Amino acid sequence: MKPILIVGGGIAGLQAANILHQNNADFILFEKQASLGGRISSSKKDGFILDRGFQVLQTSYPEVQRSLDLTALKLSYFESGAMVKDQLFYNPLRRPFELFSSTILSFKDLFSLTRIWFKLQAHVPALDGNKQTTQELIESYSFSERFKNEFLTPFFQGVFLQKSLTQPASLFFYYLQQFLYGNAAIPAGGMQAIPDQMASWLPVDKLKLNQEITALDAKSITLKSGEIIEGEAVILAVDLPVVAKLLNENIPATLGSKTFYFSAKSSVKQPALLRLVGEEHLLHFTCLTDVNPGLAPKGKSLYSATSLGGSSEKEVKAALEKQLPGQKLTLVSSFDIPHSLQQVDGYEAIRKSSNGIVLAGDYLEFPSLQGALYSGRKAAEEVLAKS
Ligand SMILES: Cc1cc2nc3c(=O)[nH]c(=O)nc-3n(C[C@H](O)[C@H](O)[C@H](O)COP(=O)(O)OP(=O)(O)OC[C@H]3O[C@@H](n4cnc5c(N)ncnc54)[C@H](O)[C@@H]3O)c2cc1C
Repeated sequence: MKPILIVGGGIAGLQAANILHQNNADFILFEKQASLGGRISSSKKDGFILDRGFQVLQTSYPEVQRSLDLTALKLSYFESGAMVKDQLFYNPLRRPFELFSSTILSFKDLFSLTRIWFKLQAHVPALDGNKQTTQELIESYSFSERFKNEFLTPFFQGVFLQKSLTQPASLFFYYLQQFLYGNAAIPAGGMQAIPDQMASWLPVDKLKLNQEITALDAKSITLKSGEIIEGEAVILAVDLPVVAKLLNENIPATLGSKTFYFSAKSSVKQPALLRLVGEEHLLHFTCLTDVNPGLAPKGKSLYSATSLGGSSEKEVKAALEKQLPGQKLTLVSSFDIPHSLQQVDGYEAIRKSSNGIVLAGDYLEFPSLQGALYSGRKAAEEVLAKS
C-alpha cells in the first residue's frame, strides 16, 4: 500500500501525522521550510529565546490536553488577568476580593460580567453559526466606556490580531471561557518546543524538510523539483493563502501583526501579566522574563511588544518607553508576520474545490492551536475511515 502524503509540517500537519502513526498507517510529511512548526517557531539570538510573534499556549484547550505532553514542556504560567494602564486587573474567579479594589470596573460592568459568567456555565461552542460579531456583542452589553476601551477592546484585539473585532461573537465567549478557567503558558524552550515535541514522536525518515509542493491532486503531489509522488491519499495542511493558491481559488485577506523584542537591564520582578495599552503603535506588551527568566541571559529582561499596523521600530520603542519610564531599551529582534491569523469564514469555495484532497489547517476551525490540532486529527481520521 502507498503511504498517505501530508503536505505542510505546521501543527495541523504534525497532528495528522501523529494520528496516522498511532494507527500504524504509513505516511510521509513534506514541509517547505527547513524546520517544522509553521506559524509556531522560536529562534535564539544573543542568549534570548524569541518566539516568531507573541503567542501563548492555552492549557485548557481540549485538543492541547489530549495531544500534548504538557509536563514535558515545562511550562511557565502567566497570571490570569491583565495590567490596564497602572491598574492590575485579575481574573475575578481566581482573586474575587481584588474586584473591590479595582477602579476599572463600574457597577454596570460587574452586572454585565455576571450576565456573561452565567452564559459561560453552559457548553460554549467556538462557532455557533450566528452572524453577530464580537464588536456588536460588546456594544450590546452596557459596559462602561472605560472598561470597554481600556480592557475588553484591546484585550480581544490582541487575541484576534484585528482592530475591527469582526470575528464571531461565539468565539469571544469561547476564548473568555478558556481564559477564565484555563492558564496561558509558555514552554521552557519557547513555543517551538510544541512542534518539536510532536515531531519527536514520529519516525525521522518520514519527515521531509525543504520540500515545497507545487501541485497536487487526491492521490499525488508534485515537488518543486518536478518529481511526482503517488500516495494512498493526500492531506493538505498548509496555511490559507497557500491552500487558495494551490486550489486556484481567490486568496483571502489575512490578519497581520508585528512583534518587537526589546531587552533591558533586569529589574524587580513584576506580576507576570499581559499589559494592555491599546495605542496605534503598541497594542500590548509583556515582560516575558517575569513569566520565564530562562528566555533571556542572566541580568537581562526580555519585553515583547505587539502592534497591528505597519508601525516602525522607532514608533514602537517610543510607545514602550512611555510605559517603562527609566528603562533603557535595546532592540533584540522583530518579526513582521503578514499572515498571522485569518477571519473565521466557512471557506466554502476552498472546501468545494478540494476534489478529494483532504484538508487540514486552523482556517477550517478557528485560528488557534486548538483549531490546528483538531483539524489535523479530523483529517487523519477521515483518511483512516476510508482505508
Ligand atoms: C503572531 C501569532 C500569534 C498567535 N497567537 C496564538 C496564541 O496565542 N494561541 C494560539 O493558540 N494560537 C495562536 N496563533 C495561531 C497558531 O499559531 C496557528 O493557529 C497555528 O500555528 C496554525 O497551524 P497550521 O498547521 O494550521 O498552519 P501553519 O502553522 O501555517 O502550517 C502550515 C505549514 O505548511 C507549510 N507549507 C506552506 N506551503 C507549503 C508547500 N507548498 N509545500 C510544503 N509545505 C508548505 C508551511 O511552511 C507551514 O509549516 C498565533 C499565530 C501567530 C502568527
